Amino acid sequence: MNQNFESISRKTVPELDAILGRAFKVLDDGFVRVVDYLGNDAAIVQAARVSYGEGTTKVRQDRTLIRYLLRHQHTSPFEMCEIKLHVRVPMDCWRQWIRHRTASVNEYSTRYSIAIDTAQKTSSEDWRVQSQSNRQGSAGFFDQKTGEKFTRAEAELHARSRKIYEERIEEGMAREQARKDLPLCTYTEAYWKIDLHNLLHFLKLRMELNAQYEIRKFADTIGNEIVKRWVPLTWEAFLDYDLNALRFSVTEQRLLKAMLEGDKKEMFEFSESQGWLKKDEHGQLKPHFERAEFEEKLKLMKVDIPWQLNDQG
Ligand SMILES: Cc1cc2nc3c(=O)[nH]c(=O)nc-3n(C[C@H](O)[C@H](O)[C@H](O)COP(=O)(O)OP(=O)(O)OC[C@H]3O[C@@H](n4cnc5c(N)ncnc54)[C@H](O)[C@@H]3O)c2cc1C
Repeated sequence: MNQNFESISRKTVPELDAILGRAFKVLDDGFVRVVDYLGNDAAIVQAARVSYGEGTTKVRQDRTLIRYLLRHQHTSPFEMCEIKLHVRVPMDCWRQWIRHRTASVNEYSTRYSIAIDTAQKTSSEDWRVQSQSNRQGSAGFFDQKTGEKFTRAEAELHARSRKIYEERIEEGMAREQARKDLPLCTYTEAYWKIDLHNLLHFLKLRMELNAQYEIRKFADTIGNEIVKRWVPLTWEAFLDYDLNALRFSVTEQRLLKAMLEGDKKEMFEFSESQGWLKKDEHGQLKPHFERAEFEEKLKLMKVDIPWQLNDQG
């Protein structure tokens, strides 16, 4: 072999090295910490420009290329970077987390070891009321007095179930069976390794406001404390083109066009034809998912919602 390959040095990120192993606290007793990583922004660029050497790139060009790749969903260069996290998460939250199939996972075994002696506690001001408009969501909080009642009952339940668990263990019951009545909010721990492309997909789904609060807190920490330090150019592009970007359907585009042109007739007739403006017996607009999602986008852009204004003329 007489081919002259360039010499290669390991790509490291001093900002991430500085926090290797540091536990970022999440919820009352959870954490996320970086155990190891592979690659950085430059590795993404290098993979995309496989025929060029690293020395030919400039930060500005790297930024432009990364933004282009992310904007156009050229995903494989982002798979060149990987990260391994050690996480401690309540089991109900972990149940949502583990649905992301593109990671490699090793979880703490409560068949093999004694269950971690900590369960997620909720303070009296944090009990959420069921949302009426979103069956999967919450809307507002219980008052302090009701919250205190829930928190007291929670503490009793946690103490009782842990006591029963420990009694079963002391009497020699198999750990795999003794654990069956532990609460779902008992913390578990895992090593979780994932590539950057799939991590961004996880963050996109779990940092959004419609994700459950608890997993959102973990996703926020991974994004803002870890990914931002690790691959700052990718993080910036992700916020811009993915997490905070808005997508408009053809229906929404037609409505936006009518709104921009001030064509109220077209705007209302077309919304009616889509079944968005049906009213109940009190003359109130009936709930409509697609309309509600469009309203959310208008709100984010600080644009008035046409059917909430009085002048429909
Ligand atoms: C707000 C919210 C509410 C949810 N509610 C529910 C619910 O009520 N019930 C429920 O069961 N789940 C629910 N989920 C989970 C959701 O349906 C997904 O399972 C989860 O978000 C993982 O997404 P994913 O499959 O895209 O991710 P990953 O598993 O990480 O996969 C990433 C991507 O890889 C590809 N991929 C991975 N595996 C396969 C495969 N076997 N075949 C083809 N392509 C594959 C897909 O393109 C996929 O998008 C909810 C998720 C969110 C964010």
